[in-house]
Amino acid sequence: MAQPRVVTIHYTLTNEQGEQLDSSREEGREPLTYLEGAQNIISGLESALNEKDAGDKVQVSVDPAEGYGEVNEELVQPVPRSAFEGVDTIEPGMQFQAQTPGGPQIVRVVKVEEETVTIDANHPLAGETLNFDVEVVETREPTEEEVEHGHAH
Ligand code: ZN
Repeated sequence: MAQPRVVTIHYTLTNEQGEQLDSSREEGREPLTYLEGAQNIISGLESALNEKDAGDKVQVSVDPAEGYGEVNEELVQPVPRSAFEGVDTIEPGMQFQAQTPGGPQIVRVVKVEEETVTIDANHPLAGETLNFDVEVVETREPTEEEVEHGHAH
């Protein structure tokens, strides 16, 4: 197996409708740096960049299965409004950190009714095909510490 590398990229992410969701090229943003083989980025993007070097440009379309997964309807649930005690206004689109058996999880409010609030714990990009326009800025060997930590410094 190839040695993992630390890879720095500029990327622009658009959805199937061509809307830009995220870009490291925007003013004030830094390129993204990740350590290979450490699940720092979604697998579909990482595998497209496996053999790439500085200066290479890549366009890749990533299916949900290799991105943020399919939408799981079981993660969309009504909860009693009393669960939001102390929150004055609850509106669709708001995000909360919820305590779950699997640890803290970000949930989004999708519907607000008198007695119940419907929340969605899916990743906001679940179910989306993601189109990345990438340029590799730099690749280098990781330090021992980076390998130990599982991320780039
Ligand atoms: Zn570290």
